[in-house]
Amino acid sequence: MKKKGLTLVLLGTMIILTWLFISCRVAEEAQQTADLVLTNGVIYTADAADTVLEALAVKNGKLIAVGSNTEVQGYIGDNTEVIDLAGKMVLPGFIDSHTHPPGIALRERYSISLNWTDDKAAKLADIREFIESNPGLNAYFGAGWSVGAFDGEETTRGPRKEHLDEISPDIPVILRSYDGHSAWVNSKALEQAGITEDTPSPEGGIIEKDEATGELWGTLKGAAIQLLPKQEFTAEQLMEGMRAFQKFMHSLGYTGVYNAGWDDRMFDVIKQLEDKGELNMWVRSGAPLDTRKDEPLDSQIEQVIQMSQTYDSDLFKVIGAGEVFIDGVVEGGTAKLLEPYEVTAGFGDNHFGVFSWNDMEALREAIMALNGEGLQMHFHSIGDRATRETLDALEYALERVPGDHRNVITHLQLVSPEDINRFSELGVIANVHPWWHLKEPGWWEEVDFHFLGERAEYEYPLQSFFDAGVMVTISSDYPVTPVPNPLWAIESGMTRNLNNAEYYGVEDITHIDDPTWLLNKGERASLIALLRGFTINNAYALFLEEKTGSIEVGKYADLVVVGEDLFQADPLSIDGVEILKTFFRGEVVYSSW
Ligand SMILES: [Zn+2]
Repeated sequence: MKKKGLTLVLLGTMIILTWLFISCRVAEEAQQTADLVLTNGVIYTADAADTVLEALAVKNGKLIAVGSNTEVQGYIGDNTEVIDLAGKMVLPGFIDSHTHPPGIALRERYSISLNWTDDKAAKLADIREFIESNPGLNAYFGAGWSVGAFDGEETTRGPRKEHLDEISPDIPVILRSYDGHSAWVNSKALEQAGITEDTPSPEGGIIEKDEATGELWGTLKGAAIQLLPKQEFTAEQLMEGMRAFQKFMHSLGYTGVYNAGWDDRMFDVIKQLEDKGELNMWVRSGAPLDTRKDEPLDSQIEQVIQMSQTYDSDLFKVIGAGEVFIDGVVEGGTAKLLEPYEVTAGFGDNHFGVFSWNDMEALREAIMALNGEGLQMHFHSIGDRATRETLDALEYALERVPGDHRNVITHLQLVSPEDINRFSELGVIANVHPWWHLKEPGWWEEVDFHFLGERAEYEYPLQSFFDAGVMVTISSDYPVTPVPNPLWAIESGMTRNLNNAEYYGVEDITHIDDPTWLLNKGERASLIALLRGFTINNAYALFLEEKTGSIEVGKYADLVVVGEDLFQADPLSIDGVEILKTFFRGEVVYSSW
């Protein structure tokens, strides 16, 4: 009884305080002057009602008013900077909910970058040029090739060592594929790593060998890559890379990212950048958790928990474990499928792929342990079987550890239609990359269709997730998507067709239904759904929705100005719309206008 009385008193006080607060706020707002006012625009707020407004006012980094031009007029004072948007569009700052900072920036400076060429001859020329202009290194590292550039058996097994032996017979060459899941090496690299014809493929990995002769092929996949040395960057180089990454992301309108891991030293690098006052974006991060490591799972889980306490500041926080690999990738034959790979893929007629995380009981335990600590799981799953088993584990864990965990499954190339509803039932977030939602030139036919057959026609569900009421978030997996321009993704998400013809080096399409690169148009999503996926939904997935992700009074002024009103634009022209200005907490962090 006593307790109840106290509650009532508290409630009464709260009502009075709230009333005082509201009346103060109105009084204060009437005379408040903004630091910055944007007027005369098309402002998509991403609020619950998808309101579109004309103007907004910012003070001390936060939004103090949003509304019509007239409504915001009163906030303009002598020192207010006023920007006339002249019909341009403003959106909440984009968030990329799966990236690998610092991405390509370091590679481009310190190693061989093969991301920008498509065919074999050009890639070999790039490798030769780097080696010739950087003599005297102990090893040459690089990344960015894809099997799409090769032909014959090399499209399945990966490129052969002989190409590299010809260029560098005496110094190891180690080149990761564009997605990091395979490595192409020369004979010297194999020799120094102690890999011979007799070395068995490790669990979760493949050491490719010539089927006829048993000779080493020159490509290692999945866990086998861990047999190779890694390129070591200095902390100073990583810092430089992180600065370049931030600048690049700002230029594409981003004000927040999720770090899915790359180099464990990045945690300290990002923290230092924040301490120096140079971090101008939200960074939320997963901590490593991988059953392929020697370290026992329990101590890895303990470490994730510890890291969430160590890195827990305003701009930079560890929010869980990620990316947690359940399987590999289709092109490596390591994505785990419900039905076997096509025979044409060259793995025989009974190859279902490989689990990266084999022990499903351990998976359930890990989910329960971390969710129980209020930490999120962020899974990598490409194949339909990997996704089903991940959902099974999540379902099991949720029954025992209920709560608002916001667990994420990313990539989702093949998903059984039977599993789509389970995402919403279990509160699991679907993290997708619409940049890839087309029959990609030089890739879909040669790889996806070749390995998956008819199934490839139904890969990368998008609208199915929205239809099922799933929380859909969008990310680039940068540097796997080397230019994570959100407008390119929005175009392909809306059209399921070619975006940025120039980037792919093909002729642009003039009709949305042009069949050449069209991938399952039934999965086309709406502009608003995609905008929400890039903004408020991503903020939710990163536990940031109280601070950012929409243009609403009280939130930070994280904004992007784009050249045109996307609601009026022809979907096929969205990839060409310019990103003009990015604001983080009311400050300009990028401007081309
Ligand atoms: Zn990733």
